[in-house]
Amino acid sequence: MDKHYDLIAIGGGSGGLSAAERAAMYGKKAAVIEHSRLGGTCVNVGCVPKKVMWNAGNIAHGLLDANDYGFDVKVNKFDWTELVKSRESYIAELNQWYQTSLTDSDIDLISGQAHFVDAHTVEVSGKKYQAEHIVIASGGMPMIPNVPGANHGITSDGFFARQQQPRRVAIVGGGYIAVELAGLLRALGSEVNLLLRREHFLGNFDAMLRETLMEEMLNKGVNIMPKFNVERVEKKTDGKLNIHCQGGHELLGIDTLIWAIGRAPNVAGLNIEAAGIHRDEHGFIVTDAFQNTNVASIYALGDVTGRAQLTPVAIAAARRLGDRLFNGQSERRLDYENIPSVVFSHPPIATVGLSEGQAREIHGDTVKIYQTRFTPMYYSMTRHKSSTAMKLVCVGAQEKIVGCHIIGQGADEMLQGFAVAIKMGATKADFDNTVAIHPTSAEELVTMK
Ligand code: FAD
Ligand code: NDP
Repeated sequence: MDKHYDLIAIGGGSGGLSAAERAAMYGKKAAVIEHSRLGGTCVNVGCVPKKVMWNAGNIAHGLLDANDYGFDVKVNKFDWTELVKSRESYIAELNQWYQTSLTDSDIDLISGQAHFVDAHTVEVSGKKYQAEHIVIASGGMPMIPNVPGANHGITSDGFFARQQQPRRVAIVGGGYIAVELAGLLRALGSEVNLLLRREHFLGNFDAMLRETLMEEMLNKGVNIMPKFNVERVEKKTDGKLNIHCQGGHELLGIDTLIWAIGRAPNVAGLNIEAAGIHRDEHGFIVTDAFQNTNVASIYALGDVTGRAQLTPVAIAAARRLGDRLFNGQSERRLDYENIPSVVFSHPPIATVGLSEGQAREIHGDTVKIYQTRFTPMYYSMTRHKSSTAMKLVCVGAQEKIVGCHIIGQGADEMLQGFAVAIKMGATKADFDNTVAIHPTSAEELVTMK
């Protein structure tokens, strides 16, 4: 007989684990189906290993400044292989932690690849499982372009598998992953070429952020190549890559090419057609505001829906869905407005709400901008300098804050609290009424004229 559950989550990543945990919290019997390592993208090939490498990059920058702060420091070498070893053993501990937490919550882990048989049944390794509610949280996967020789490049997954430091790198793309990998690789001493198909990276971000980051990256020695549309990749007999772009430009002798051009929904093999689930033109699963798909009792959340592809978004959507399904909170859902996020570039970017451009399109002349740019006090001692820039986007006579954008040292830890205030509808006057914390960079956000 088929095994029956209250909820089955397809995918043991941020979204699927949270959906099952919330169901179990309400006393329901849940299962997670996962064919790879528990924790999904974030834990294994995303946020976690990325943040470790980003931290290493920050230490490298700190070491450059150490002499200016009076330390007699000489760095003999950086051991990439050792760092990767420690990083992966930390990740193995996290995998184990998730396994234990499933056991403790009496959630079944079904190991293998799930595919739909019908709207209430999924099959894994020849066994059938049924549930009242099925949550698709199968995530995404990195895309590779359709150009000759593209297979000579790797993606972020391949980057995290590298045991040796890449020396001469080309990164194609201008989103989160491209600028993050470019920043950390450069900080760790690799030669980095960032290939953009347009003039700029981070196209949806406030212009101040991308322009400041561009300057900072150029100052740190990243070779940014705008309007470089890759046409062909060629592998030479010595293993090096030559990258040819439209218009005849080329980049020769690259040892590692990284594609960072966006992520596609991971639905291969799921046979979602058997359940009749709709997808959009990019293949992402379509849901309403409550994570319902077009098929009753099947839901989708996280990266597979293509909306705000961030770990806390997948987790928040899953928890709210659980509250709605199992705790009678019929209106409970995730509000996708004002989601804060950080780009772990060097220096980091923190952003929430509308960019100036978006605000002007929606609110026209009622938009008022406050902005500042300065060199943080930390750099008054150092030869290497880095700027901080901040912008508040305000609307109407009340000057309601609809956007807050920060780039600079510490931005990553600065925004979370401000995001609470903005979510609550804070105005510029509320910010001004808050006493500053001195001496910090964050105090500029409550003292802007
Ligand atoms: P996933 O975490 O991808 O989980 C999906 C799981 O489903 C996977 O484990 C997969 O193996 C499994 N699966 C798929 N199909 C099947 C099937 N048929 N049967 C069984 N199992 C299946 N977000 C942040 O908030 N902060 C960051 O700093 C950040 N950094 C990132 C860095 C990188 C390089 C990348 C790639 C992403 C980063 N993200 C970050 C995004 C974040 O990782 C994702 O938004 C998040 O992991 C999405 O969670 P999810 O549950 O939707 O999918
Ligand atoms: P993004 O969607 O952020 O960016 C994709 C980039 O690739 C865009 O700059 C796009 O350029 C460019 N691009 C698309 N196709 C091509 C092509 N054929 N040739 C050259 N460039 C191309 O994708 P990422 O892969 O960087 O990241 C995926 C998602 O993962 C992010 O959107 C984010 O939600 C999440 N993430 C979050 C992180 C965080 O929170 N810190 C870190 C990493 C990932 P154009 O602008 O010209 O369209």
